[in-house]
Amino acid sequence: MKLALLGSTGSIGTQALDVIENLDSDVFSIAALAAGKNVALLSEQIKRWQPQVVSVYGSAEADQLSTLIDTSNLEILHGEQGLIACANQSQADRVLNAVVGSAGLSSTLAALEANIDVALANKESLVIGGELVQQVLQQSEAKLLPVDSEHSALWQLLMPHQSQEIEKIIITASGGALRDWPLDQLHQASPQDVLKHPNWNMGARVTVDSATLVNKAFEVIEAHWLFQMPYTQIEAVVHPQSLVHGMVEMCDGMVLAHIGMPDMKVPIQFALTAPLHQPMNTPRMDWVGQSFNFDSICNDRYPAFSTLLQAAEMGGAALAALNAADEVLVERFLAGNIPFTQIASGLEEILERYTPTALTIDTIANVDQWARQTAACL
Ligand code: MG
Repeated sequence: MKLALLGSTGSIGTQALDVIENLDSDVFSIAALAAGKNVALLSEQIKRWQPQVVSVYGSAEADQLSTLIDTSNLEILHGEQGLIACANQSQADRVLNAVVGSAGLSSTLAALEANIDVALANKESLVIGGELVQQVLQQSEAKLLPVDSEHSALWQLLMPHQSQEIEKIIITASGGALRDWPLDQLHQASPQDVLKHPNWNMGARVTVDSATLVNKAFEVIEAHWLFQMPYTQIEAVVHPQSLVHGMVEMCDGMVLAHIGMPDMKVPIQFALTAPLHQPMNTPRMDWVGQSFNFDSICNDRYPAFSTLLQAAEMGGAALAALNAADEVLVERFLAGNIPFTQIASGLEEILERYTPTALTIDTIANVDQWARQTAACL
């Protein structure tokens, strides 16, 4: 299988290359790598994996890259067009889209339009562009394969069943690093406090989004599109141990649960080898003395969760606005410019000021820009 790996220097991207390193090298190869600004790491990856095409953030990074490596058998592209070309013109059989942010949507659409399967780790493709991705999927022979741990779990549980057997799906949330903090101290949480995620090792934005449950709201929205489930049939619960990744309640009341140690390499590998599980040297469950706790999502602690789902019900470009605003608010929080609690209040403010707009690629860009500017001044 020839793979185009978009977002190769990020958390998912580097773990994906580790996974492929351990899979059969006669079966898997890398046709394309796309990264942003980490040219030093990308040049190492190019030497190891010998892709035919790579893409970087801009022309400055492309120039920098060409000074670091032998470019005789390599096409170096940049920008959104470069990312899209890696997805649909690199002769890849599968695209693993691990781009962070709304920049990932156009390459997901381009791959699906070219009938190339997409292993999806870019949440924004479905969070912002769910409606557009759905339209393209209806015309395409390609499939979307979830990479996120919760969706991988649900995918595996749902695989042998028909939709009429399913009553609801349940997504678990760790609750993030501030889960046990007193409510009246949340506004004092520093970036260091929030970045100490209890169970998962992830990128900075998604770790902050885990503490606000923005990430979990995004995952509910992704599940809605991936599994064609109405929001009334998707439940999210806090599960501090992060061992149960997803559950499916059947129409006879029986519940299937997907359990395993939290390790992103497992769902990454499954997105490449499904429906087969392949051997992996991962930590194993120790069942003795292990307990599983579940809690409801408390709105006072996680107000952003309901704001995001309100935007999801609204449809159109509302989630494009909130996603862009969240990116800015998280950056401002990480830079020490706003308190943690202002991420959620900022999102609420943006939704109040948002003018309902239909969803197209053009409106996404406009709404995104409006939301970024507005969130920067809140
Ligand atoms: Mg997840």
